[in-house]
Amino acid sequence: MVGDRLAFARGESVVVERAVPNAERPQFRYVTYSPRLNLRFQLSDAEIRRLEPAPVPAVRPVGAARGLPKGFWIAVASAASALVLVTAGVVAWIATRGTPGSPGTGEVVCIDPGHGARDTGALENGVAEKDVNLDIALRARRLLEEKGYRVVLTRDSDTNPSLAERCAIANGSGASVFVSIHNNARPPDVRGTTTYHFRDSTDGRLLAVYLQQEVVRSIERPDRGTRGSRLYVVANVSMPAALLEAVFLTDPDEAALIKDPDFRERVAEGVAAGVEAYLKSVPEPE
Ligand SMILES: [Zn+2]
Repeated sequence: MVGDRLAFARGESVVVERAVPNAERPQFRYVTYSPRLNLRFQLSDAEIRRLEPAPVPAVRPVGAARGLPKGFWIAVASAASALVLVTAGVVAWIATRGTPGSPGTGEVVCIDPGHGARDTGALENGVAEKDVNLDIALRARRLLEEKGYRVVLTRDSDTNPSLAERCAIANGSGASVFVSIHNNARPPDVRGTTTYHFRDSTDGRLLAVYLQQEVVRSIERPDRGTRGSRLYVVANVSMPAALLEAVFLTDPDEAALIKDPDFRERVAEGVAAGVEAYLKSVPEPE
């Protein structure tokens, strides 16, 4: 895959022109344009999902790619080659859509409020998950900024970036850690806090352990522990990542708690404390 992108001539890049939402979340399709081949093609979240998380690739000149006849087969081959580049394209395309980094000189923390807009997430006991996720994220941003960190949010209003877009925002932000904020839904006898991490990431696991510890300490709900997973956002960002499921909206008591702004502040305090504990446990990057 990495070698394939050399089929692009010097300066060639694939520009993502727009995202086309499908009815079924979280699928998006990205209309991309290759100036050299003068054609448009679409890539989906699912196609981008096969990518290794990677830094934005540099496009290198390759003479062999020049003078190839234009044609559909090139489009097919290029679509495959472009997958890596599309990650870069998504970063460029959405650069204006992510919230700008907060002022400050500290390390960057990327916070991802789950769901948004038509994707409500869990809808239980009069709570829309997307709303409480966003509120907790905004509170965590304020608390982290007070601690001297810079914070980038994948959304700061009722919008729904695709999962690929959220990862692109994180990967383009220079963030040291990524935290996705969610709340859970299960049959109503289940309650408590869980934090997920990418199962192959040691640093991600450590981040999840600190987050879980601090959130549970702060909100005093049952400790369901940390779990390795292949959840999309934790598997596709290039920095240590964790996904918090703070409480179960399906549990009437926990739903009542999360409706209380003071409780959401405590969730956010746990998130900020967990992020800080993790960052202080690892050497600062050069
Ligand atoms: Zn969720």
